[in-house]
Amino acid sequence: MLAIDIIVIILALTFGSFFNVVAIRLLKKESISYPPSHCPNCKHRLGALDLIPLFSYILLGGRCRYCRVKISYLYPVGEGLTAVTIFIVYKTIGLTPELLPAFILSITLVLAVLTDIREKLILDVITLPSIVLLLIIRMFIGGQPFLFYLLGGAVGFGLLLLIAIVSKGGMGGGDIKLYAAIGLALGPIQTIMSLVLASLFGAVIGIVFISTGLVKRKEPIAFGPFILIGTLVAYLYGNQIWEWYLGFIM
Ligand SMILES: [Zn+2]
Repeated sequence: MLAIDIIVIILALTFGSFFNVVAIRLLKKESISYPPSHCPNCKHRLGALDLIPLFSYILLGGRCRYCRVKISYLYPVGEGLTAVTIFIVYKTIGLTPELLPAFILSITLVLAVLTDIREKLILDVITLPSIVLLLIIRMFIGGQPFLFYLLGGAVGFGLLLLIAIVSKGGMGGGDIKLYAAIGLALGPIQTIMSLVLASLFGAVIGIVFISTGLVKRKEPIAFGPFILIGTLVAYLYGNQIWEWYLGFIM
């Protein structure tokens, strides 16, 4: 492993712990920068050792260093998820201009997953800035003309709106706006691919969860994690999948 990979992993973990806290605070409508990171129980401020909580979580067996109260598994999961996402995106795309929209998309998706898992909510404060940023970025960065990505945004927004109308509320406004952002980053073809893959993963996992009794039949499952996986696969490997598919049917 290269030295730069190690730096990226440490950076990704730091981003992970930061955005994990951002997600929690946005849900609680707290300020992002104040107060500094603290234990949710004893309010003890986290020291330098706790700044990468994934490590201290494992070392301390999932308990606060100071009051020993058990800390939710969502902390290390959120942090690990962000780190893994950023690292995969970096390794696949490399140090190119495309890394900028890729990074914005990754953060948007991870924040959406974290708030979706916790509260079944995808917040406007996450999706709307992402839409604006990607709109601006796609005017300057991308392998396709700006209109291609604009069409992608429209396809993402339109498809999800259609699903929301047909399913009568099975899809929330947050998902619709999230897919507008995804469309701006991916363009129309990979956006459709992302939705197909997300639904496929969601259906498979849903069947597994229901048949093993992990969730009840009517209980809603957060769709966010499947959107994340489907979108990353479509974004990073969409072209390969498309070629494989064309070779398969022809
Ligand atoms: Zn504590």
